[in-house]
Amino acid sequence: MYQAAVMTRPHTIEMQSKPDLSLQPDEILIRMAYAGVCGTDIAIFSGDYPVPLPLVLGHEFSGIVEAVGSPEDAYLLGKPVVGEINNTCVAYRKNELCPACRKGLTNHCLTRTTLGIINYNGVFAEYVKLPAGSIHLIPASVSMKRAVLTEPLAAAFRTFEMAEIHPGETVAVIGTGRLGKFVLAVAEKAGAKTIAVIRNPAHIETAKAWGAQTVYCDSRENTVKAILDSTEGLGADMVVEATGNPEGFSLAMQLVRPQGTLSLKTTCGLPAEGIDATRLVVNEIRIQGSRCGPFDKALPFLADTEYPFDNLMTEILPLEKTAQAIESAITQSKVLIQGPASL
Ligand SMILES: [Zn+2]
Ligand SMILES: [Zn+2]
Repeated sequence: MYQAAVMTRPHTIEMQSKPDLSLQPDEILIRMAYAGVCGTDIAIFSGDYPVPLPLVLGHEFSGIVEAVGSPEDAYLLGKPVVGEINNTCVAYRKNELCPACRKGLTNHCLTRTTLGIINYNGVFAEYVKLPAGSIHLIPASVSMKRAVLTEPLAAAFRTFEMAEIHPGETVAVIGTGRLGKFVLAVAEKAGAKTIAVIRNPAHIETAKAWGAQTVYCDSRENTVKAILDSTEGLGADMVVEATGNPEGFSLAMQLVRPQGTLSLKTTCGLPAEGIDATRLVVNEIRIQGSRCGPFDKALPFLADTEYPFDNLMTEILPLEKTAQAIESAITQSKVLIQGPASL
């Protein structure tokens, strides 16, 4: 038996004993070390993002491989790993791929389940099993705690896979929650001129620590003026909306240059407000959503000492306090839930 934190209805999580997980070929059993609480967990827990229940939430984690379903994966036994969140045909190494996987759109696999979100129990538990193709070894230079950040950091990389930027271009990031910070860092490393747009003056120094070369936190009017002034009146080449608020979209529209890209990273479960479709057409703005990204780019980036990854993790709670951890994550930058492999 093992313990899992099961969400039974909005705002309610129960600790339950579950029978040991058995493995099919091409599945991997992982003993949890640390799990991270993210905005999606908060949205599901509060009922803003409805999913079929009961469900074990959580999709960001690090752990140790406990058992493998196929001999070819035996090299993973006892190793520290992270795992991707989409359980796809490719991840299960199916011989017959669905039409999406055949086209290479594996994140959009037609038969996928999603760890801790759609029809698949997540990582707020002592054990989790995942398809072998989802597993990545954690490099020795990255701690188990830091590795929990792989999934959200990969999502930041994805922004620039879907819409390229080039060195010297201007990227404005609205919102400096965790994802916004990661987007700033990745954009800076790619050689972009980075601007953070924030509401709270107290976050200026934080934004700079994550690669923002310039920070604006004044009124909307002054922010628009400042961005135009620093881009020869054109606007930013790319604006990344990462506020988690529906009104971020309309601000982003005012900051992006003609034929620029508006990158949306918010899955707040709420529709965007104030979309000026005329401006969109007249300025030929491209809107690009993006979500899950490349773990193989994120893992080495986590070894970088330039950015304060470890400072993000402000609170660690035991598995039994999962509900408290999710509530706490509403205000804390990163809350971790500690599993048995962390000891
Ligand atoms: Zn997440
Ligand atoms: Zn598929």
